Amino acid sequence: MICKNDLFEIDITDLNNLGSGVGHTADGMVVFVPGAVTGDRVSARAIKVTKSYAVAKLETVVLPSPYRAKSDCSASLSCGGCVYRHVNYEYEKECKRNYVRSAFRKAGLQDVPVGELRSVGVLSGYRNKAQYPVGVDRNGNLFAGFFAANTHRVIPIADCRLTPPLFGEICRAVLTLCDKALISAYNEQTGKGLLRHLYLRRNVKGEVMLCLVVNGRELPHEKEFADAICRQFPQIVSLYVNVNRQNTNVILGEDYRLLAGLPYLEDVLCGLRFRISPQSFYQVNHDACELLYGIAKEKADLRGGERLVDLYCGIGTIGLSMIDRAKSLVGVEIVPEAVDCAKENAALNNIANATFLCADLSENEPMLARVAKETGEDFAHSVVILDPPRKGTTRALIEEIAQNNVPKVLYISCNPDTLARDCAIFRENGYEIGEVTTVDLFPRTGHVETVVLMTKK
Ligand code: SAH
Repeated sequence: MICKNDLFEIDITDLNNLGSGVGHTADGMVVFVPGAVTGDRVSARAIKVTKSYAVAKLETVVLPSPYRAKSDCSASLSCGGCVYRHVNYEYEKECKRNYVRSAFRKAGLQDVPVGELRSVGVLSGYRNKAQYPVGVDRNGNLFAGFFAANTHRVIPIADCRLTPPLFGEICRAVLTLCDKALISAYNEQTGKGLLRHLYLRRNVKGEVMLCLVVNGRELPHEKEFADAICRQFPQIVSLYVNVNRQNTNVILGEDYRLLAGLPYLEDVLCGLRFRISPQSFYQVNHDACELLYGIAKEKADLRGGERLVDLYCGIGTIGLSMIDRAKSLVGVEIVPEAVDCAKENAALNNIANATFLCADLSENEPMLARVAKETGEDFAHSVVILDPPRKGTTRALIEEIAQNNVPKVLYISCNPDTLARDCAIFRENGYEIGEVTTVDLFPRTGHVETVVLMTKK
């Protein structure tokens, strides 16, 4: 029996996707030790003890695990973003595959094979998007950082290993200008202060979209600010202010105002041009995303006569990247600005046989019925692509897909737990589940992307 504040030694036998080493006490209690690694023997102090588990703080590593690697970020433990920064990449890959396997086991799908994690092998600087909260230091100067894990305290990490160094440089320059203009940092506790977040996106060419999130209608001396920052960084091709006056932890408000440049950032993905508005989702890891879409296309094994139905389509990336091998495409997405981008993206790439609808897929409106009504076709030769947000899709939608006898469903997911839950519903409804391919879109973090093809029996 361990009690709070006890110091004890423990062998670590597992590493979870939140970055905690897992061990068991002699009497069988599960202990989570953040920062410890499978194969370590550690000395740890209990900081929380409940009936079923305990959490302990790592004090010393008594015997280090062979999986350990030197962390190249001083902030990884406090930030909590890179849960695998202190283990070697081979072991990270194994952990992620095991996470997906265990999600399928828990959903009663232990027979579904889970493939080795595929990766493009780039472990740093891969993120093309970042949102930094703004804090203020002891001297009253603004800094960009991250929220310390599970808190609302901003900790300064000028240069995150996952983002391009240019992001850090732009942040520093923006904040120097803001300091000169005596702009204050937003404080979540009091709801006061102006500058909340810096939101950046970059394309493969190195061009940047910068958006300043403010708790107010505008930034003082906006015009001068825009001129100065764009002069200093010609890479900035699009500059926005986003207005967020709500006292919430949601980063972005509804109103965007373009201060300079273009209303979108354009990127090239899978050989196609894509315009991305600031409201739209876009995969954060460009090269790994191409790998993922390539695998998805291979699994779809298109013969040319298929109709693609791309649900949760964002700006249309997946469907448009496969249309050269299919007959037509219908995309459905909830964010109107993303739907606008999707339409524009089809035109930009001279794709005429694609249509996009703005609709909420979680409403129990039969969506395929609506698609059929608008396009006048049935689903006998269709491939439905599902790429929902973390919470997965709905039972109603899965049942509608099954009732329409859709022969192939391609499910792409960033959450193994909801993927496995939804695959189980597909199986109940007569679908055979293919091998789950895992792709590392988020190296060093606890997240993993997956793609699976399901076929109607
Ligand atoms: N397939 C796209 C986007 C995937 S992210 C890509 O690969 O880039 C998930 C998308 O689902 C987001 O664009 C999000 O806006 C959209 N979405 C979330 N909830 C939705 C809902 N209830 N109905 C329709 N779309 C939704």
